[in-house]
Order: sequence, then structure tokens, then C-alpha cells
Amino acid sequence: MSATVNAPKGGFFGHPKGLSTLFFTEMWERFSFYGLRPLLILFMAAAVMQGGWGWDRGEASAIVGIYASFVYLASLPGGWIADKWLGLRKAVLYGGSLISLGHLTIGASSFTQSKIPFFLGLIFIVLGTGLLKPNISAMVGDLYPEGGARKDAGFSVFYMGINLGAFIGQLITGFLGEKIGWHWGFTAAGVAMILGLIQFWIQSPKTLGDIGAEPTRHPDPATQAKQVSNVKLFTAIGLAIVAVVFTLIATGTIGFNAETFGKYYAYVLAGIGFVYFAYLLLFGGLNGDEKKRVLVIAVLFVFAAIFWSAFEQTPTALNLFAQDFTNRTIGGWEMPATWFQSVNSAWVILLAPVIAVLWTALGSRNINLSSPVKFAIGLGLTTLAFVVMIFASYIVVGEGTVATKVSPLWLITFYLFLTLGELFVSPVGLSSMTTLSPKRYVGQMMGVWFLASSLGNLIGGLVGGEVDPENLSAMPRLFTTTTLFLGGAALILILLSIPISRMMRNVSSEQEIANEGATNVI
Ligand code: GLN
Repeated sequence: MSATVNAPKGGFFGHPKGLSTLFFTEMWERFSFYGLRPLLILFMAAAVMQGGWGWDRGEASAIVGIYASFVYLASLPGGWIADKWLGLRKAVLYGGSLISLGHLTIGASSFTQSKIPFFLGLIFIVLGTGLLKPNISAMVGDLYPEGGARKDAGFSVFYMGINLGAFIGQLITGFLGEKIGWHWGFTAAGVAMILGLIQFWIQSPKTLGDIGAEPTRHPDPATQAKQVSNVKLFTAIGLAIVAVVFTLIATGTIGFNAETFGKYYAYVLAGIGFVYFAYLLLFGGLNGDEKKRVLVIAVLFVFAAIFWSAFEQTPTALNLFAQDFTNRTIGGWEMPATWFQSVNSAWVILLAPVIAVLWTALGSRNINLSSPVKFAIGLGLTTLAFVVMIFASYIVVGEGTVATKVSPLWLITFYLFLTLGELFVSPVGLSSMTTLSPKRYVGQMMGVWFLASSLGNLIGGLVGGEVDPENLSAMPRLFTTTTLFLGGAALILILLSIPISRMMRNVSSEQEIANEGATNVI
């Protein structure tokens, strides 16, 4: 995406005014995404008496994982469609409309006996988020054609918007869904996206100038027309496949078992990552230095996927832990389990500025940790988070009664370490993709970054159903396995960072690349 800079100037925390438009749109979008996701498993697994479906937890958790995984995977075609055909701004508008439609369809599904509208709604959200999420981030990048520290700061403000939305969203939809009725929670998520959409529609012409107004055009009109018709054709084929598969499953023509599907799908996602990097390294026309940098990205990708596999157990395993085994009563009132999901966002809002100060302080002492080292520290902190959960789960198992509820401080401490881990991985990874990648591949690298989230969400969902009062011993086993994986990964990465830094010694450093104002594409 080329940088266009005719955006009106003026303030939003010292940033271009367009950032406020993107901040609030993404805030409402994340309100709706995070507001819905933790309700899904609680609703599907809740007994029919409590308005749920009474589904097996393993199946419900796998569905949440598959859904969230597709949400992130859809960024790949979503970014491509915006680049070549719709332009960023239209992609965000259409994406937001699809997301709103999806939530409202899910909200309205309570009026029918059929489960079809519910799943149709999830598909609308997947398609809509694929159009919205990567492209709104790309517009943030386009606000800072000069790149550098100001762009990083812009992204930090944007990350705050993400977490503000997640924080408020989960409080509101959690209360409505768990206390009033599941479908009120779902509908509230839809209303939030509509508010974001109206805000974007009114504000974008005033604040974004020509950013995202047009797709990237090929200089030759004939090639350009061919490109657009190709994108349209592939989009139509893709949508037709989704429609056919959905109809076959909905009509019971083919069976669908989420846990079995999830396992095969995990191999497919890992395979896409492997083939992509192998292709790029062998046939991408990269020079020696570029190959070394891409190799580092590939390593970061693997460890990011491991990180997200643990992190994304929050809407499934940790959410169920809040519901079943955490004392949520204050003054005789029981708070919704979903509220604990907001603790992560609250920690991000509190700690992101602290980490920013840490980077500056280290920088001023000339200590620049490489991204593999930062990732290893992040994985180490996340290991500690899961150690906390091993203790918490043994208290529950030790008491041996399903009625045991531990103090909320366990989850609050878990989220503290998890968030610290997130802040060493997520923003670092985002910026490393843009600085390490050969310039002409940056857009694709961002897609690959979201592929790690996609894989992580899937695995987090596949294992998340292990938290179950009817199978108590599985819970400490899940947290112990996760701890061992994370700890092992942290150790391997810290060891790998030594040959990596040796290999990168003669390659221009990440900082130098960043200073070149490498890119504003994300
Ligand atoms: N919490 C961040 C967001 O919602 C990152 C999520 C992810 O990449 N898995 O954008």
C-alpha cells in the first residue's frame, strides 16, 4: 500500500486526527469481537435449562477455536481484496457492515429453533473481520509516511483503542449475556459495531483525506482491469465454496465434528506457514541478507504461534475456570465470569506505557534487545502465568469437590503475567514484521503474522474444553502441559538467539532498517 499523506492535520494526543477515527472504529469492532467470543462457549455449553444448548465442552471449545482461527485467517484474502480491488476504506465499511449483520443474526437466532442463523452469523463476522481488521491497521500505517518512532507511538495509541474496546465490551456483553439473556449480549455486540460504523462513515471523509480511498492501481489500465476481474473471480469462487460447504453441513448432507475437523485444520494452517516460508526462501528472489532476515521472521512465526496457543486459551479454558472455580461474589452479588476476560485488557492499558518507558530507558543505555530475546522473555513470563494456574487448579482438585471456588486473585495474577508476556510478543512482533521483511513482502508478512494468531486460536480452542467439573484431573494436566511447552519454547529460543545474533552480525540491524523508515505497510 503506498503512503498517501493528504490527511487533514490536527490533534488526537498529538497525532493526526485520522487516528481518532481509526481508534474509535477499531475500539467498537474489538468491543463486538471480544464481547461475543467468551459468551460463545458459555452459551453453547450451558444447560438447556439455562438457555444454552447443553453441548459437550470439548466440542463447544473447538468451535470457538475454529471460529476465531478463521477470523484471523480471513485477514489474508481481506488484505488482498482491499489492496487490489476495494481500497482500504471501502473494505472497512463493508467489513463493519458484515460484522454488524453477523452479530444481529446471532442475536435474532433466539427467535428460531434452528441453529443455522447462529452459525451463519459467525460466518458473516469471519468475512467482515477479514475485511476490516488488516485494513484498518494498514490505514494507521498510512497516517505516518515518515515511519519511525512516531509510527510506533501511533500504533501504541491504536493498541490502547483495541484494549479499551475489549475492556468495556466484555463488561457490558458479559453482564447482559450471563445475567439478562444470552441473546442480549450478542445483540449488544452488534449495536457496538453499528456505532463504530456510523462513526467511521461520518468521520472518515473529514479526517482521513485520501488515505485508503483508492486501491493500489497498476500503471497499465489493461493489466489493472485484469487484476480487478481476477480478484472478483477468486472472491466469488471463495464465497461459493463457503456457501456450498455451509449448506452441506447445515442440511446434514455431510457430518461435521469440530474436534476432528480442528485437528486436520491445524495441520493445514501449519502447512501453509511452512510452504510459504520455504517458497519465499527458495524462489522469492531474495539476496543473502534478505534470506537471513526472512529466516528470523520464520523463527519468530513459530514461537508466536506457540505463544498464541497458550494465550488464546483465555476465552475457553480460563473463561470456564472463571465460571466454575472462581469465587466471583462481592457483597452477595455474583459478577459475570466474562468480566475476568476484561482483566487482560485492563492490564494492557495499565502496563503498555510502563513497557514503552522500559524500551526507551534501555535504548538510552544503548541496550537494544533483539526481537528473539524479547520473544523468549515474553514466553518466559507467560510460563509464569501458567505456573500460577497449576497452583490454582491443584487447590480445586485438592479440595476434591466441584463446588470449590478459589480467590479471584489467582486469575488476576495469571492475567498480570500473561499480559506482560503479550507486551513482549505482540507489539514487538508487529513491528519486527515491518522492519525485518523485504519491503516488497511487508503486506504478506503481516498476513503471516495473523496466521500465527489463527493457529494459536485454533489450538487454544482445541484444548480449552479440558476445564470441566466432571473431569477435574484434566485441568492441572492442561496447565502443566502448557507450562512445559512454553518454558521449553522460551529456553530453545534463548539458545537460538545466540546463533541468530551471530548470523545477523553483518546484516544491517533491525534498528538501522527501521531508521531507513522502512515501510508504512502493515
Ligand atoms: N489483542 C490484539 C488484537 O485484538 C492481538 C490479538 C491477536 O493477534 N491474536 O488485535
